[in-house]
Amino acid sequence: MAPRCWRWWPWSAWLRTRPPPSESTQSFRQQFSTQEQTPQICVVGSGPAGFYTAQHLLKHHSRAHVDIYEKQLVPFGLVRYGVAPDHPEVKNVINTFTRTAHSDRCAFHGSVAVGRDVTVQELRDAYHAVVLSYGADDHQALEIPGEELPGVFSARAFVGWYNGLPENRALAPDLSCDTAVVLGQGNVALDVARILLTPPEHLEKTDITEAALGALRQSQVKTVWIVGRRGALQVAFTIKELREMIQLPGTRPILDPADFLGLQDRIKEVPRPRKRLMELLLRAATEKPEVAEVARRASASRAWGLRFFRSPQQVLPSPDGRRVAGVRLAVTRLEGVGEATRAVPTGDVEDLPCGLVLSSIGYKSRPIDPSVPFDPKLGVIPNVEGRVVDVPGLYCSGWVKRGPTGVITTTMTDSFVTGQILLQDLKAGLLPSGPRPGYAAVKALLGSRGVWPVSFSDWEKLDAEEVSRGQGAGKPREKLLDPQEMLRLLGR
Ligand SMILES: Cc1cc2nc3c(=O)[nH]c(=O)nc-3n(C[C@H](O)[C@H](O)[C@H](O)COP(=O)(O)OP(=O)(O)OC[C@H]3O[C@@H](n4cnc5c(N)ncnc54)[C@H](O)[C@@H]3O)c2cc1C
Repeated sequence: MAPRCWRWWPWSAWLRTRPPPSESTQSFRQQFSTQEQTPQICVVGSGPAGFYTAQHLLKHHSRAHVDIYEKQLVPFGLVRYGVAPDHPEVKNVINTFTRTAHSDRCAFHGSVAVGRDVTVQELRDAYHAVVLSYGADDHQALEIPGEELPGVFSARAFVGWYNGLPENRALAPDLSCDTAVVLGQGNVALDVARILLTPPEHLEKTDITEAALGALRQSQVKTVWIVGRRGALQVAFTIKELREMIQLPGTRPILDPADFLGLQDRIKEVPRPRKRLMELLLRAATEKPEVAEVARRASASRAWGLRFFRSPQQVLPSPDGRRVAGVRLAVTRLEGVGEATRAVPTGDVEDLPCGLVLSSIGYKSRPIDPSVPFDPKLGVIPNVEGRVVDVPGLYCSGWVKRGPTGVITTTMTDSFVTGQILLQDLKAGLLPSGPRPGYAAVKALLGSRGVWPVSFSDWEKLDAEEVSRGQGAGKPREKLLDPQEMLRLLGR
């Protein structure tokens, strides 16, 4: 076997220091140059993690080829199916991803579910390196009685519904109730609360699906409670999202000053971003608003509120048992200090009547292939800086690497680290030597299984169709929801 550093010697330097090549060095040279020219790398998942990893690889290795596999027909993961429609500026990252996809050393293969249509081992055989960037699709179940009652949804499914995720298009949540409860106090909780309470006319020019917009126009929901197990100091949302809530047209906040007693002193020591968040929360809860704000709140027809120290114990059924009528919350108190702070039930309970429950208590990744190690407790692939433990040539990035927290920029940073580590390993000769067939081999496998991938130019046809369907209504796009129709549009 060739010494590890050989493959990364500059070729010209190697020629200068060597006698004319013999037959055996010539065959080595062929192998060396093939691999040198084309490290074949594939990425599983086309969300921010997948695209940022690909971007880093293409930018920092002038010959690397990157194939991106995606189980949905279309790219961009949660940028398309998670980020709220009233946050269009966040979706601008799609322009960068599109530039990456246009590279002639990058290809997109949509409608390929890795683990089902092709195994990770098959990808490892076809490529020099495989990067798993498939996110965290699963939601954390409440694991309480009544969770299965109609009217209880994961916030993620609700988000998928208004964002046009095909599998959630028939969710049809009943919005004829007065009160909704969102369990969890992260940004996704604020996203769903905001969408429920935003005057529908403010969503008309967004890319929210027409079906969701129609349902929101008919909605009777007037109050949304956002419930957390712990106290104000532990909320997981960020200041931008909180500010939007506080200023949401047509709504007023319901914040109990008693929940914020003593907080002023406790926030002195917390890190600056959290301090600013807490100060905003404190001001909204305890300061007397200015005249204009008093008038605004008095005329508000909808309200949202934060409830602290409440943990869901049971979803309460309506008298006929057919749907949700409320949530029984266990009153909690905090035990422990710092990171180890836990909410434990005091024994008291409180019933909160509502007709809609959205649970937003976290996500987890799932294992997609038995050959890949998985940490079921943390819900991530065990890795060191993106190297999957004990599997040479296998890497991970994004939510599947570090868990489902963090915004797109956090995902970008960790994906660049994974890309960098992979290139370091390539340079150090730690990846398989010799040429690899890459997509040619996978295409043949997929073809034999009746799987016909969607290319990036196919996506651009669908994209153009969506944009044109949105034009009449002044929307950036009207998303296509039906995979069969999408395939028909592509002539399949
Ligand atoms: C509701 C919601 C709203 C958010 N809003 C914001 C926001 O406003 N601003 C912000 O900065 N961040 C936001 N985030 C966070 C941001 O979306 C994440 O940081 C980021 O998407 C994580 O990137 P990822 O690539 O790891 O995962 P994902 O974006 O989930 O991408 C994973 C991709 O892998 C694909 N995949 C899954 N399984 C397979 C398989 N077996 N084979 C092939 N492909 C597969 C998925 O279909 C998906 O396209 C939000 C998150 C959520 C849930």
